[in-house]
Amino acid sequence: SSIGGAAKRVFDLRDLAAAEVPVEVPHFELDEDPAFWMDRNVQVLVRLRPISAAESTAYGQKRCLIQDSSKTLSWTGHPETMFTFDHVACETISQEKLFRVVGLPMVENCMSGYNGCLFAYGQTGSGKTYTMMGELSKDGNELSNDSGLTPRIFEYLFARIKEEEERRREDKLKYICKCSFLEIYNEQITDLLEPSSTNLQIREDIKKGVYVENLMECYVSSVKDVMLLLLQGVANRKMAATNMNSESSRSHSVFTCVIESHWERDSMTHLRFGRLNLVDLAGSERQKSSGAEGDRLKEAANINRSLSTLGLVIMTLVDVANGKSRHVPYRDSRLTFLLQDSLGGNSKTTIVANISPSICSSNETLSTLKFAQRAKLIQNNAKVNEDASGDVMALQRQIEELKDQLTCLRKQQNAPGPPSFLLLNSGSDREYNTLAEDHQSSCDLSLLKQKVSHLEDVLVGSLRREKLAELDIRKLEAEIKHLNRLVLT
Ligand code: ADP
Ligand code: MG
Repeated sequence: SSIGGAAKRVFDLRDLAAAEVPVEVPHFELDEDPAFWMDRNVQVLVRLRPISAAESTAYGQKRCLIQDSSKTLSWTGHPETMFTFDHVACETISQEKLFRVVGLPMVENCMSGYNGCLFAYGQTGSGKTYTMMGELSKDGNELSNDSGLTPRIFEYLFARIKEEEERRREDKLKYICKCSFLEIYNEQITDLLEPSSTNLQIREDIKKGVYVENLMECYVSSVKDVMLLLLQGVANRKMAATNMNSESSRSHSVFTCVIESHWERDSMTHLRFGRLNLVDLAGSERQKSSGAEGDRLKEAANINRSLSTLGLVIMTLVDVANGKSRHVPYRDSRLTFLLQDSLGGNSKTTIVANISPSICSSNETLSTLKFAQRAKLIQNNAKVNEDASGDVMALQRQIEELKDQLTCLRKQQNAPGPPSFLLLNSGSDREYNTLAEDHQSSCDLSLLKQKVSHLEDVLVGSLRREKLAELDIRKLEAEIKHLNRLVLT
């Protein structure tokens, strides 16, 4: 079964031979560069798709682009313009190769606790869905040549999880993955895994960050699990589009997986998590104002709202990267509000800009190339999401020990010691030291101060973990409720 109108076979050179004007398109192999993400947080790749049958019928093999290398291409309109990107994937680059360049490093990043985001941008028909999803198979066992980045990412992710858990068995390393799938259409968020949940709201929480309220989250532990969610979501996306009498190309879809790992070392539990967002954007073509009335007009404005805000956010971020102090209008659209971490924030982000080489969409292609060029200038600040906490018993033991030391020190000082709040809050260092030096125990005191502050960190982490566990329980309860409902219907 092919999803999103994915081609039944990949680009075939025989198509060219059969075309009226045979054209030899050079192939440029892509570089797999494992060091790329070590010091960079934003990557931009431009992907060309083969000229389609319809384009060929209308304009033959006439192109608006000439590719010069695996990183550069020229737009041959007026004025002729050369562009350089991290990668330019030519028409003959396979889905597997694209995965190895873009998807694989993203999985590694998320497994080590970075947030990751992958956007597919481009006009309708340029290959966004082919790139992100491609062909989806029901069993998830065998991917085909046309399977896109998402199925390949999860096939690789679960293989790597197995490998890592085995390699670090002594640490009791465990990974947990949970997924959600939503659509933004007309500035309204619909849960693609629970399509009766429409018009969901975005909330912001100091601990949780930005999240969608009441969004279904499903635990997954195999490609098959993910494939079922994808198929379900894609079917619901189509259905929603049909009901609203529109095409799904007007909506944005966001598939999210939170990859959490925990392990034990020195009687401490360590926790890392990375959020991976896979985003298939609405078609970037400008909405024709003629003929757009009523609902259509509103829809056009709203679709423009998320996409135009995305453009605006990126432009503002470029200013910010150049040292200007600017307000970034994340909150002006659902898409940018939800994905603010992925844009200029805590994330390693890849933008795949899809284009057609055919002359028939020359202007749209130029505007996509300009968008991609701007996006390259964004500066993100990705950091590992990490947390360490001891178990409650170990913490209590440490607290008892510290209390003993404190009593001991106070006795040595033979005077009323510094009030305990001074030890616990950050009070000025000099104050401690003068007090302590008087009694020849400055080392002890500063050591104690360090220990207390470390213990505070550990406690904060521990409480946070508890909160997370609570959240998980609530989600599981919601899932059980949902399953019960399914069983009853
Ligand atoms: P979009 O999601 O941007 O609207 P699609 O991904 O649906 O576009 O692609 C439009 C058509 O082009 C589909 O039939 C798809 O299979 C085909 N296509 C896109 N990219 C490629 C590619 N790289 N190789 C072969 N066919 C492609
Ligand atoms: Mg699409």
